[in-house]
Order: sequence, then structure tokens, then C-alpha cells
Amino acid sequence: MKIKFLGAAREVTGSCFIIETDQVRFAVDCGMHQGGSDVEMRNWDIEAYHPSHIDFFVITHAHIDHSGLLPRMVQNGFKGPVYATEPTGDLLKILLLDSAHIQETEATSKIRRMQRYGKTEKIVPLYSTKNAEAVCPLIKTKRYNEPFFPADGIKANFKDAGHILGAAILELFVEENGAAIKLVFSGDIGRRHQLLMEDPVTISDADYLFMESTYGDRDHKGEEDSLNEMAEAIQYSYSRGEKIIIPAFAVERTQEMLYSLYLLDIKGKLPKDMPVYLDSPLAIKATEIFRRHHAYLDTDTQNILKKGEDPLDLPQLQFSSSTEQSMRINEMEGSAIVISASGMCNAGRIRHHLRHNLWRPGASIVFVGFQAQGTPGRKIIEGAKKIRIFNEDIAVKAKIWTIGGFSAHAGQSQLLDWLGHFQNKKMPVFLVHGEAGAQDTLAALIREKLGFDVAIPEYLEEITVKAGAKPEVLKRPPAVPPPVELTPLLADLKTKLDYLYSQLGNIQELPASRQVEFLELLKQASMNIDEIKIRDSNTRK
Ligand SMILES: [Zn+2]
Ligand SMILES: [Zn+2]
Repeated sequence: MKIKFLGAAREVTGSCFIIETDQVRFAVDCGMHQGGSDVEMRNWDIEAYHPSHIDFFVITHAHIDHSGLLPRMVQNGFKGPVYATEPTGDLLKILLLDSAHIQETEATSKIRRMQRYGKTEKIVPLYSTKNAEAVCPLIKTKRYNEPFFPADGIKANFKDAGHILGAAILELFVEENGAAIKLVFSGDIGRRHQLLMEDPVTISDADYLFMESTYGDRDHKGEEDSLNEMAEAIQYSYSRGEKIIIPAFAVERTQEMLYSLYLLDIKGKLPKDMPVYLDSPLAIKATEIFRRHHAYLDTDTQNILKKGEDPLDLPQLQFSSSTEQSMRINEMEGSAIVISASGMCNAGRIRHHLRHNLWRPGASIVFVGFQAQGTPGRKIIEGAKKIRIFNEDIAVKAKIWTIGGFSAHAGQSQLLDWLGHFQNKKMPVFLVHGEAGAQDTLAALIREKLGFDVAIPEYLEEITVKAGAKPEVLKRPPAVPPPVELTPLLADLKTKLDYLYSQLGNIQELPASRQVEFLELLKQASMNIDEIKIRDSNTRK
């Protein structure tokens, strides 16, 4: 059989592994590529997927980096079933629609921008709401430990990955020419002792393992510390009559935040007269899905539920679905907690809350999730003095808190521990879903401590896998990435700067307000150039 790596190869996003036997061609995961524009081009260039020749998909969990290209597959001729656990099926229905909505909005604003420049290029969204809706009837749900047979000679089984609601590790038994092989795809492995989720299930046997490595180079802080820090942030702003803004991903992190507030409430650390707003229609829908699938929550949570309590509810919790409700929060005086999306502050309602609170001394902005390079969230945690939101510079005067202990991913030692349960020491391990640095660190540790053979596949690499034989690399992508043409752009920038220099005298004769406007635009351009960190991009092999 052949396995092709179409994503999560020396990167975190775009998880997709296409498996081809003599009989059948199918894929594990169908993630969207997220990051720089070169990486995002892969979402458009889908020839390598051959969607109409994929018999079925098995999706490990609902995160967009594992599922976000399903509508694109349907748009291009995929018609087969999509297997997932029950909660994943429910979450996919809301997350894919939300993703389609984002694609459509982005395309519309791009068209408007082009029109303002007098251009009328044809711009279409990556996929539409209609494409996302077309995925829903294809979803077939299976429970954990309920083996299913998606094709002749293929048996699949989901096990609890302890990552987000319904997240699964996939055991795949493939029969070819009378011989059987067992492959394990880890999906994303959860952090142990996470609120709401069970610890990831360990597995002891496999012939081949495809394992995530997101935090291959570090461990997380303890959860007790994180809860205490959260209490400190609340106290800080409550005593100053200001708001606590928590940017959080709609699925899992938001619910974990609600649970944390519930725990703080029990400890008497959540002021009774302080309203808590959940201001994200997607997060409200996701919370409903968590409520529907009690069986997928951990034992601690189930015990609380059995007592008749709801750890996702608080007496002072208020949902704001409509835009009017959301706007009312900002008109209100006094302290409150606001949980809103997006988690990295680059889209959604959170931007309004930042605009109203970032500049207020005494307010708190509490970051509880990963902030990717280039996002406003990353700029704030790296100490930016001001942030541009809705074309307006907002000073950062609020207290910024970064609480790292809420990750949904296993840290380095937990990954090693999980892998240590496999008994077959001859099992080749393929590290996926990680940035190069984290993967290299983890690979070295695995070889040294556990003695497994480790490979780190490249994007578009293809391997053959046979029972009892070592895997062979069939195709490697060209070692040198295609050259990026920077010279014309740099020359263009230089011409523009020269022109501005030559016009300096004229500019100084303009009214002061116009000059300030120029100054702001130039400052912004200069900040953008500062962001080009040449050393960083060199270290990414
Ligand atoms: Zn995930
Ligand atoms: Zn992931």
C-alpha cells in the first residue's frame, strides 16, 4: 500500500494522509492549510488529492486543521462517506459552515478592495456555504471502540484521544494480498488532566505509527497554577471595576474556561455580582453540543453532572447571540468577564471588546491559547504598545496575562510517555503535525530514550508500506523549494520610497492633519517591515 503526506508534514496544519491499496483509495483527515500565503495556496491547488477518486474519509476530530477542506473535496467531486465519532459529526456541521462563512466574507471584502483600485478580477471563495452543507449528509458516525468496515479488507476503530470533544486516535487494519498490517494515526493527543476530557487512551501494538508532535520541544505548566493565575486576573480587574476579556477558540477552550470559572466559583474566587458573558454564537452552539454528549466527557465531569450540577453553567452566565446583545456589553459600566472569539484576535467579535478595553488601565486581557505569528494576539503578548483594530490604533494599557496551562495538546514528556506504551520496538514512527524545530527535538529524544526508528516526512512525500518489510520512500518532493521572487517587489518599494523622499518638501507644505495621516501610514509600513525576521525564516528548513 502507498501512503502520501498531503499536509501536517513539517508543519502543524493541513493534516491529510492518502492511503492507496490495490482495492481502495481513502484518506485520514482533510485539514485546511493555515499560515503564510505559500502554505495557503495548497488549499487551492488540490490536484494531488484527486477528490473524485477518494472512496471515503476518516476524520480524527473536528478542528479545521483536520477537517476544513472537506467542503473543497465535495465541491470537486468527492461523494463518499465521511466517518467520524458522534460529537465530531455534530461539531463538523457547525465548524464547516462557519469556515465557509469566513471564506465567503473574505472573498467579498477582497472584491470590494479590488473595485476601489478600479480592478474587476474574478474572485471566488475557497468554498461556499452550499459546499459545506453538502458535506453534512455524507457524515457517518461511530462510537469509540465500535470497529467498522469502510471497505473490503479495511477495519477501522476510534479510541479516545483526550484532545477535544469526540477527538479520536485511529486504529486502521489493512489487509493486502493476504497479509494484514495495523496502522495507528494518533490524531491530536490530548494533555493529561485536562478539564472535561478523559486522558488519552494508550495503545500497545501497531506495525506503523503516525504521531503528532506539536509540543515536541516543551512541556506545559500545571493546571493548578493556571487556575490560580486566572483567579488573580479576575481579582485584579474586579477590584478596579474593569472588564476581563478572554479571547478563546469556540470549541473546547471556551468550555474549559466556563468549567474553570465554575471551579473558581466553588472556591469562592468568582465574585457573585460579576456577570460572565459568552459572546460568540459559534461557542454557544458548541457548548450545546458538549451538553448533548455527556458520555464523551471525563469521569470527574460526569460525576458532577450526576449530582445534578452543570459545570458549563454559572448563575451569572449570559449568552449573547445577537450583535445587539454583543454591543450592549460594551455600553455597560462595571466589571465583567467576557469570553469571545476568535482565540487569536484576528477575526470575530473579540476585536470589538479589545477596542473598548485594551486602552483601559485596570482591564485585563487573558490569553489562554496558542497565538500564531502575525496575529494581533501574538503582537499583544509580545508587548506591542499599540494595536491596529478596525483601522484605528489602540494603545495597550490593560494588563496582559498569558496562561499557558490550558493547552489541549500533550506536552513533550506526555508524548514520550504515550509512545512508550507501544511494545513492538521495530515499529517505524512517522512524526507529523509539528514545526521543524519541535519535530527534530522530539525525534532525537525518541531515538535516544525509546529506540524507535523515526522519520519526519516532507509535504507530498509518498511511502510504500508492506507487512514485515521496512517502509520505502517512493517520491520525495524536490529538496529545494521553488524560489520566491522578491527582487521586483523590493525594487518597487525602493522606487516608491525614493519618490516620497523627492516629495518631502511638498509634503511639508500640506495641512498638518494630512501630514499626520502620512506619518501614520508610514509608521504602519515601517512596522510591517520590522516583522520580517530574516533569521527566523532561515531556521525553518
Ligand atoms: Zn486538534
Ligand atoms: Zn491539529
